[in-house]
Order: sequence, then C-alpha cells, then structure tokens
Amino acid sequence: MPAPIDDIVHGVPPVVISNTTTLVNRTGSWKYIRPIYRDRVAPCNEGCPVGIDIEGYMNLLREDRVEEACDLLLRENPMPAVTGRVCYHPCESACNRRSFDEPVSIHAVERMLGDRVLDRPVEAIPHVQKETVAVVGSGPAGLGCAYHLVRLGYAVTVLEAASEPGGILRLGIPDYRLPKDVLAREIDRIRNLGVEIRCDTRVGKDFPWEDLDSFDAVFVGPGAHRSRPLGVEGEEGPGVLSGLAFLHEVNFGARPDLGKNVVVVGGGNTAMDCARTALRLGAKALVLYRRTRAEMPAIDEEVREAEAEEVAFQFLAAPVGVRRENGKLLGLECTRMRLGEPDESGRRRPVPVPDSEFFVPADTVLCAVGESLDPDALPEGLGNGWGVETDAFGASTRPRFFAGGDVLDGPRTVAHALGAGKRAALGIDRLFREKRGETVREAIPESLRYGRLGNLSATRWREDDPIPRVGAANEVVPYEDLNIEHFDHAPMHGDRLRVPELRRTGFDEVSRGLGTETALEEARRCFNCGVCNQCELCLIFCPDVAISRNEDGHGFVIDYEHCKGCGLCNAECPRGAMTMTREGL
Ligand code: FAD
Repeated sequence: MPAPIDDIVHGVPPVVISNTTTLVNRTGSWKYIRPIYRDRVAPCNEGCPVGIDIEGYMNLLREDRVEEACDLLLRENPMPAVTGRVCYHPCESACNRRSFDEPVSIHAVERMLGDRVLDRPVEAIPHVQKETVAVVGSGPAGLGCAYHLVRLGYAVTVLEAASEPGGILRLGIPDYRLPKDVLAREIDRIRNLGVEIRCDTRVGKDFPWEDLDSFDAVFVGPGAHRSRPLGVEGEEGPGVLSGLAFLHEVNFGARPDLGKNVVVVGGGNTAMDCARTALRLGAKALVLYRRTRAEMPAIDEEVREAEAEEVAFQFLAAPVGVRRENGKLLGLECTRMRLGEPDESGRRRPVPVPDSEFFVPADTVLCAVGESLDPDALPEGLGNGWGVETDAFGASTRPRFFAGGDVLDGPRTVAHALGAGKRAALGIDRLFREKRGETVREAIPESLRYGRLGNLSATRWREDDPIPRVGAANEVVPYEDLNIEHFDHAPMHGDRLRVPELRRTGFDEVSRGLGTETALEEARRCFNCGVCNQCELCLIFCPDVAISRNEDGHGFVIDYEHCKGCGLCNAECPRGAMTMTREGL
C-alpha cells in the first residue's frame, strides 16, 4: 500500500505513478522547439587582443589541471609572465562577472601560469618547412610573429637594433612593473624553440633592407620610438629630456641625477613610468597634463599607483616655454587650459586660458607627450606618416612584407602587438601554402575571429584544438543569458601590492601576484560563459530524464524521442551554453 502523498511531500499534488517503463511514451513528438548544446564565445576571449582561450584555461584550472592550462595558454601567448604583469587586461573589462560582483582577476591568474612555465624546459621545434622568414624588431609584435612561425615549422631570424631583445618591454617598461629576469626567461623560451635573434643589427643601417630579399617573407615590427617634441621654444637644451630615452637609460642600469624637482609633461603611460621612475631616483615628481584626469590616456590603474606613491598632478596646464639661467634649467613657463569642443579623438580639445601664465620650477623636464614612427625604421614604400596599412592577415601593400604592432595605426599595447604578430604569422603561413598550391582559407573564417579582427586563434588555424567544441557559435554571451541563480558572490583576489612607502625606495617589483592556491581559487570564480563545463544541471533538471552523459564521458546526449521541448535545461544552464531551436530547422 503506497503512503498517502501528503506524508511524502506537503503541497505536491497527487501524481500518476507508472509501474512499467515510461519509455513507451514518446513525449518527444509533442515538441515544436528542441534544446541543443552550443558553445558560444566568452566575452573575455572576445576582448583579448592576443586571442587567448581564457575561458578554456579557467575551465581546466577549475579541475586543477594546471599544466594543461599552461599548455593551452602557451598555444596562443608566447609571453604570459609578461602579459600577466603589464597587459591592460581588456578581458577583465569585458568579464560578465563584473555585472555580478567583481571581474575575475584574469591577469593575476595568467601571471601565476606564466611564472610557472618560466623555467619549463622546451625542445627546439624542427624547421620542417623550407621557407625562411626575417623579422625586423624584437618587441612583442616581432617575437609574437616569430613564435607562431617557428611553431608552424618555419626557420625565423629576428633582427634587432638594440643590444638586447624585447622592444619596449626591455627599453621602456621599468623593472618595478616588469623585472628584467622575467622578460629574459620568456625570451629564452622563444629562443629555445628555435628562433634566432640577432641583436645590435639595425636594418637599414647594419643590415641593408635589400639583403632581406634572401628571405621568403619579412615581418616589420619596429615599433614607434620617436618621442614627440613639446613644441615650445627652448626645449632643445640642458635639463629637458625625452621621457622614452630617459626610461631606456634607466632600464640599462643608469641612475642619472635629476635634481630635486622633476616635471613630467604628458598624461599617458610613458608619463606615469617617467614620474614613478623619477621618484625612485630620489626626486619629487609633478605630472603636467593639459586636460583633466578623466581624459588621461594612461590606464587608471597606473594613475592610481602613481598617486599612491605621491606623484603630484597639475591638470589643465601646458608648457609654453622653457626658462634657463646661464644655460641651467630653472623650469617651465606654463599656461592654464580649459576644455573646448571635442577634437578628432573625441576628447575635448584643451584651449589656453588668456593671461593665465604661471611658472613651474624644475631641475629636469621629462617630455612624454607621445611617440611616433621613425620613418628610417621602414623600408621604402611601406607606410605613411601614421603607420603601415595591412589587410586582415597583416600583409602590407608591398609583396612578401607583413607588419604589426605599434607601426600600425591602431591601439598601442603589448597585447595588440602580440595579436598582430600572430595574425601576420598566420598570414605568412597562408602565403606560403598558397604558393605551394595548397588549399588556403580565402578569408578569416568566423570561428577564427572570436568576434573581431586582431585576436585570431593559432589553435583553430592549425585545427588541433585539444578542447572539443560543441557547435562553436561565433557569438558572445551577454550577462543576461547567464543563470546567475547558480552562482555565489565571492570577492576578487587582486594583486598583492607592496606598500607605497617601500615601493618608492627602489626598483623591486610592486606587485607580488597571487600564490598558486589563491590563483586557483580566483579561477574558480570564472562563470565559464558560453561553454558547457559539464556541471550536469541540465541533466538534473530535465523532467523527462531525456539527458544523459555521453559514452566517452564528455558532454551529454539528448534523447529527442522523449524530450518534449520544455526548455528547462536551457533555462537552468548557468552559462548560456544551450539554446532552443525550432523543430525541423
Ligand atoms: P616595440 O616594443 O617598440 O619593439 C620594436 C623593436 O624594434 C625595438 O626593440 C626596436 O629597437 C626594434 N627596431 C626598430 N627599428 C629597427 C630596425 N630598423 N632594425 C632592427 N630593429 C629595429 N603597453 C601595455 O600593454 N602595457 C604597458 O604597461 C605598457 N607600458 C608602456 C610603457 C612605455 C614607456 C611605452 C613607451 C609603451 C608602453 N606600452 C605598454 C605600449 C607597448 O609597449 C607597445 O605597444 C608595444 O611594445 C609595441 O610592440 P612592438 O613590437 O610593435 O614595438
């Protein structure tokens, strides 16, 4: 005798209980819509200019598969210990978790993985292809291109004007943000894979451009190293230095005496690096910027760190002249500014306020108002004053010549440079395959794009993805498509920063990153947007028991003969990895 229903669950109405199998009831015939599994693109992946499968490595970390996560990361990013430290992490700005509590600290997790592989032994990859490639410049664009080419089996020679490789990572970014030994070990890994790097070789001077004809293709990534002048009378003379040249000097071990008062002109990242470096050399630093803090091109994090270290700021002010006495710098003649109409960059144009001149004393002025291309760093016929134009595969208008990084007229960041280098490597591979008569992709296929140009997946190019994709729709998952009921609030584990008083005393690294365990905890905060991570909620919630595990243990199968299309699985899916489609479509 069955127990009265009320004794089992209060409030549940009487239900029909079948003594035989329900499989005979083919309830699947009722449905007019059906659920399907369809992986979509996580916003972090879409936002990453390097094209890293961030969601993919977070998912592996969730299962403590740390070494596999490192492998996945290295498939796309040649220098994760660098990007984990200095990338401006647009992935975090895109992170859906931002709308829930705080974004996942992706850069900190990436740094942990990057540091882990710094000393991982690597074996040289055999040059199985007959073609050779020259890369001009060993910044992130050049090294990124070389890395992906060598992984595709090509012999690559990098020609670098400076005495050490790394571009701005070596010449511009100070030790307290990116220790030199970290950079050197990342570059060693690239070298050990089989990339030849020849330093002290300026193409166009030590190595004629014509000699590059012996290579089957050339990648040009010389960056933008010409400091823009202040444009005021008297700037050529003692006490007024190019900010980039100053950083270069300090990065190679010099400790110049700047005097007591240093004025940095500019509001970008170079200005922040100059001011914070000046502090570490014992000076007081004042940043003079012609717009307000809100318009500063420097990323907010950099500005906040500079403020914490007691860099002073004078906004809405610009120099109009340099005052010297007996050849010695006394300071800058300045004027106050106000914001007028928006200019071509969309920011409000700074306009001088009449009769508002004032004087700012300075022992040294560091000029950091931007960098432009050096026309001598380009071969004839390549580029105009603004930069080199390329197609979606990094090919320039000159046959066999590809370009990327700061030399393009686009965003100037390490991540964009790495992405551009990879894009060109795939373009060069495409060119060679075409010449060999192999079938090549005419345009960038949707699945390669992660939604926009610049962040291609080398893995998908090679078609050797270790992670099975289900449906792989090239569509980004918005926050609204997540079922946030299944997530708990948890605070972000941010970088551990040294206290400002200690930072100012030297060039030791400011951020200590996260320990492995904390980074793994942080990775578990990831929603895995758009990708089935086998959580089984679809299976648990299916009222028809129509969902079961695949035989190989990966993914699920839906028994459509019994799924009546109620959509509960789709509604319950926490990460928007399922969708409902019309029957018969
Ligand atoms: P570069 O890094 O400039 O490398 C170009 C290389 O080419 C150099 O090594 C140069 O010596 C070499 N070269 C030039 N001409 C020749 C030639 N004729 N022959 C041979 N070699 C040649 N971005 C971030 O994302 N995060 C940051 O924290 C950050 N901080 C920055 C700080 C400073 C001070 C500056 C100036 C920039 C910073 N940036 C940052 C921007 C970022 O560094 C650049 O966008 C990136 O380095 C560009 O890479 P690239 O490879 O195109 O050029």
